[in-house]
Amino acid sequence: MTDLTKLSAVEIAGLVASGETSAVEVTQAHLDRIGAVDDRVHAFLHVDTEGALAAARAVDERRAAGDELGPLAGVPVAVKDVLTTKGVPTTVGSKILEGWRPPYDSTIVERLRAAGTVMLGKTNMDEFAMGSSTEYSAYGPTRNPWDLERIPGGSGGGSAAALAAYEAPLSIGSDTGGSIRQPGAVTGTVGAKPTYGGTSRYGLVAFSSSLDTPGPCARTVLDAALLHEVIGGHDPRDSTSIPAPVPDVVAAARLGATGDLTGVKLGMVTEFTGEGAEPGVTAAFRDAAEALAKLGAEIVEVSCPHFKYALPAYYLIAPSECSSNLARFDGVRFGLRVGDDGNRSLEEVMSLTREAGFGPEVKRRIMIGTYALSSGYYDAYYGQAQKVRTLITRDFTSAFEQVDALISPTTPFVAFPLGSRTADPYQMYLADLFTIPTNLYGGPAISVPCGLSDGLPVGFQIMAPTMADDRMYRVAAALEGAVGTLTPPTI
Ligand code: GLN
Repeated sequence: MTDLTKLSAVEIAGLVASGETSAVEVTQAHLDRIGAVDDRVHAFLHVDTEGALAAARAVDERRAAGDELGPLAGVPVAVKDVLTTKGVPTTVGSKILEGWRPPYDSTIVERLRAAGTVMLGKTNMDEFAMGSSTEYSAYGPTRNPWDLERIPGGSGGGSAAALAAYEAPLSIGSDTGGSIRQPGAVTGTVGAKPTYGGTSRYGLVAFSSSLDTPGPCARTVLDAALLHEVIGGHDPRDSTSIPAPVPDVVAAARLGATGDLTGVKLGMVTEFTGEGAEPGVTAAFRDAAEALAKLGAEIVEVSCPHFKYALPAYYLIAPSECSSNLARFDGVRFGLRVGDDGNRSLEEVMSLTREAGFGPEVKRRIMIGTYALSSGYYDAYYGQAQKVRTLITRDFTSAFEQVDALISPTTPFVAFPLGSRTADPYQMYLADLFTIPTNLYGGPAISVPCGLSDGLPVGFQIMAPTMADDRMYRVAAALEGAVGTLTPPTI
């Protein structure tokens, strides 16, 4: 019998649509797989067994009734715990929201349900999506299925590890500085950050609102495109949502899969393709770029001189926005409340709650952000960082006058051992060196596996102009066709 957990989303949807298998069987196979491996991987914070089986039964009933099913009906999906799910625990990897069951679904989850996908549960993440290894989750780390002693990336390590461990064929992540692409890169899976505003933030627990972008994760480019199509598009409940149709990412992925990139011009970012990365990463990236050239793409070098300031600018802008966004966790409105014994003032309860509820990285960011926004320092830090953001955007704009898309490795290094970077925050921040510029600009970018270095996956990043998400899918699918998908060792 076919192992249903090894199939792509497209294959699963095909089997469900033709009646060769039922959505319930598919769901049960994934729940069994989670039961068998997740005590080692810890991709999930919450598995919604009953909800998943009920959703699967509903798909099977609709099919039996002759209803038209969408392209992903019956396909299981794992959702990063940053998105609200009605009645299903949503913790954002933090103690401060332990036990919170939101009264509403985020738009992304609402669309997933409407499309007939089956939500398996909520995936582990760095607390409030701050981190690059999932080690900052208040509920313990997720492990990389390629090597259980290594990190699966972050902050969406759970969503990426669930794919690589065959616990789910699709998952949802959120990318503020790289948290979809970097976990994709180090687990050998595909992760796409849509154009900012191309996917709704309604019901996404806010970290840095001008950067946060939910997006699709999958084991193949076409699966990611199909998921992108389901979740993307205008949402009147999000004031920064773009009122335009989703670019035709599915057609682009299919076009790319034909393996012809004639007429496509790609720019290798000079600053990211030289010394900044481990030699094995650069080598895998360069081989993949050559493979793209063989498919007809023209590859040139493009310098983006301000990209080197992206990391420091991000680490002022993101903490500033976080310090403001996280003010709502006051022990009154949601989740945890500490010290409310009738004798303490509101302020004391607030401060005890925040002291107990937030972990060290979240506290560090709140402090940095509060400082950067304080009167007297605002212009020197936050204001300056915003100016740098503009310069980075100009680098992208002028690059896209010369080329269709930019390319680089996704990360400077492969998956690192657990515990090896937690002592020094800067070492952790470096994991996003190549992904952050895109967030500051607001464009789309995708990470697609391009080979191995020391037996561990390397990700290839394709960055496109805003609202040209289809372009990156075309190139990504072509690359996937040339280098193949990666199969993690069996666990
Ligand atoms: N690793 C980055 C950070 O810690 C990015 C996080 C993200 O994209 N959510 O902020």
